[in-house]
Amino acid sequence: MPRILLHTCCAPCGGYVIKKLQSMGYEVTVFYYNPNVFPEDEYKLRLNEAKRFCAKEKVDLIEGGYNYNEWKQKIKGFENEPEKGHRCEICIGLRLLETAQVAIENEFEAFATTLTISPHKSAEMVNKIGHEATTLYNIKFVDNVWRKEDGFKKSCDLAEKESFHRQDYCGCEFSIRV
Ligand code: SF4
Repeated sequence: MPRILLHTCCAPCGGYVIKKLQSMGYEVTVFYYNPNVFPEDEYKLRLNEAKRFCAKEKVDLIEGGYNYNEWKQKIKGFENEPEKGHRCEICIGLRLLETAQVAIENEFEAFATTLTISPHKSAEMVNKIGHEATTLYNIKFVDNVWRKEDGFKKSCDLAEKESFHRQDYCGCEFSIRV
């Protein structure tokens, strides 16, 4: 069974995609790497929800580092960009490159991300970044657009069934809707 490292932004997005990849024949390990999430309490809450689901489903989870200030330095100058703009491009790039690198280091056959399940994300941007990572790291990127075939609705149904914590903003302070 090929092993895949799945970058997961949160449990509500991760639950459905984990199951979908398993149905495609992959042995899934979750990679929780989201230094973009603000504040740290919210980061911990999302991480703990992902851990809870993975423990229940007997899926391994690797935790990446968390350094919001370092992340903020990387997006400096683009704080006021709208969602799907250049700030998001940098943010998604950081997370997917790290996922590809950790996948290579741990001898996974492929990597993927949950990010294309959200209607708030540009699947084209996410998949372009994922494929760019494969030119640096020699590894397969699974580029399914998870929100297709009712994927987003199914992920919401699963989130409700599992009583996941559901946030109403993407992650960084600039995406908090007031
Ligand atoms: S809106 Fe989301 S994807 Fe965009 S920069 Fe903020 S956390 Fe990253």
